[in-house]
Amino acid sequence: MLYPCTVLKNESVAPGVHLISFEKLFTFNAGQMVSISMSKNGPKRLYSIASGDSESILSVIFDIKPGGALTPVLAMLKPDDVIFCSKPQGSFTESVEPAFWIASGTGIAPFRSMFRSGLSNNKTLIHGGRFLHSFYFQNEFIIMKNNYIRCCTQETGPGIFEGRLTRYLSEISLPGPDFKYYLCGSAEMVVDTRDLIISRGVPFKNIISEIYF
Ligand SMILES: Cc1cc2nc3c(=O)[nH]c(=O)nc-3n(C[C@H](O)[C@H](O)[C@H](O)COP(=O)(O)OP(=O)(O)OC[C@H]3O[C@@H](n4cnc5c(N)ncnc54)[C@H](O)[C@@H]3O)c2cc1C
Repeated sequence: MLYPCTVLKNESVAPGVHLISFEKLFTFNAGQMVSISMSKNGPKRLYSIASGDSESILSVIFDIKPGGALTPVLAMLKPDDVIFCSKPQGSFTESVEPAFWIASGTGIAPFRSMFRSGLSNNKTLIHGGRFLHSFYFQNEFIIMKNNYIRCCTQETGPGIFEGRLTRYLSEISLPGPDFKYYLCGSAEMVVDTRDLIISRGVPFKNIISEIYF
């Protein structure tokens, strides 16, 4: 079931990437997602919620897929336009245990929601992207200091690890067996990271994944 919601804001956060905010009709747990469509029965797509659980609006971040059924239209929306949104769903939700939050691209969304919901204690956030502008919300996460790692494959800059996040993970010593690993983003990143950390002794039950497909 989809519910009409009024768009409040639609901003570009990087080339081809938008953060759209709209009316929040339901409460949610940080890490959950919603289905979005342009009409009650139109094609719908899933998006992780990127806003905090106590904020009065609901935001999602998306990259525009050229020729896609939804994102090119979503990118054109203006305040007061209407979209259709489901109730929040999903179990990629946060626990209080120490954990790595590992994201590629717009897979940063659920971690921004957790961060803005006050859940970043005992967490290390690792974000992989191709360009320096791929680190969406870095001005917010920078407060995590050494627990915020940006891994960039195509560019370099101050405080940036050069290379894939899997290379970063392969070069550090991993903490004890109770640590959890939340992975969110492309199938390639999630599968490669899962294989790597399992090969380094992390139990499968400690890995929680959300794949964007
Ligand atoms: C759990 C989950 C959470 C997600 N959260 C997010 C999120 O927070 N942010 C985010 O950006 N994405 C997220 N996604 C992905 C999102 O749901 C959409 O898949 C994505 O936004 C594409 O939407 P679209 O309708 O514009 O493109 P689609 O219509 O799905 O098309 C995608 C691409 O495939 C091409 N294509 C379509 N049909 C064909 C065809 N027949 N042959 C060849 N090419 C074709 C299109 O041209 C386009 O480039 C999530 C996915 C999942 C499963």
